[in-house]
Amino acid sequence: PARPATAPRLRPDDVFIAVKTTRKNHGPRLGLLLRTWISRARQLTFIFTDGDDPELQLQGGGHVINTNCSAVHTRQALCCKMSVEYDKFIESGRKWFCHVDDDNYVNPKGLLQLLSTFSPSQDIYLGRPSLDHPIEATERIQGGGTVTTVKFWFATGGAGFCLSRGLALKMSPWASLGGFMSTAERVRLPDDCTVGYIVEGLLGARLLHSSLFHSHLENLQKLPPDTLLQQVTLSYGGPENPHNVVNVAGGFSLQQDPTRFKSIHCLLYPDTDWCPLQKQS
Ligand code: UDP
Ligand code: MN
Repeated sequence: PARPATAPRLRPDDVFIAVKTTRKNHGPRLGLLLRTWISRARQLTFIFTDGDDPELQLQGGGHVINTNCSAVHTRQALCCKMSVEYDKFIESGRKWFCHVDDDNYVNPKGLLQLLSTFSPSQDIYLGRPSLDHPIEATERIQGGGTVTTVKFWFATGGAGFCLSRGLALKMSPWASLGGFMSTAERVRLPDDCTVGYIVEGLLGARLLHSSLFHSHLENLQKLPPDTLLQQVTLSYGGPENPHNVVNVAGGFSLQQDPTRFKSIHCLLYPDTDWCPLQKQS
């Protein structure tokens, strides 16, 4: 019998979602994610942090990885985390690698649906470009003083992005076992740009631009409310930009749910025990 068109052909444990976090965000940011989307994506999700936290370890059920990377916001520290995320994904044997930040909401069903339209053996790099044009970087060729320039697109890490296993394996000469850090150093780029550099600049594959991934670099208020439940990732502006949140109605006020993640979650999963009871129709 034919499979219904909406059934994802992927199983949850085909996908590896790496959530990048840092010790000081465990309380303020991770608690919310664990209570919302991660609770519906336990098998898929791995939390990459930089400090021991027995309480998080308990809540994370064996899916919390202390990278031992330094807890600072520098290129080196962030690339160190991406490097560990990459190695753990390769080790996992899963079909898809996705990276998100700890201020992203992931719609697990939407993500599986999207990935199931591609083959993991193809070269797939999927995400939202950070800029509306490719960036240009200078490569320092080892040993010599030669400098060349290279143009490429990259997916902004703050919106989340995914890589197929096929493509991730091809990246290994520049990404595995600490290689990612040396590659980032060579081009002096942040972690997400370095992924784009390896994929487009070195391997000649292409970023598939997707408008289903969202970071707080966008105006999130402008996302049409009737499309919110189809989006694959969302984000929020945080204390510096508290008004940059998605426009979702629901049982929670802005004070009760400043990020709007609880409201989104209750629309996607109304059977959650802490969600307001639905109006009878
Ligand atoms: N982050 C980190 N180490 C740090 C600071 C931030 O790993 O020292 C992570 C943080 O947990 C988040 C991502 O980097 O997943 C982006 O941080 P943030 O949202 O604070 O800054 P943005 O770059 O989005 O403005
Ligand atoms: Mn952020």
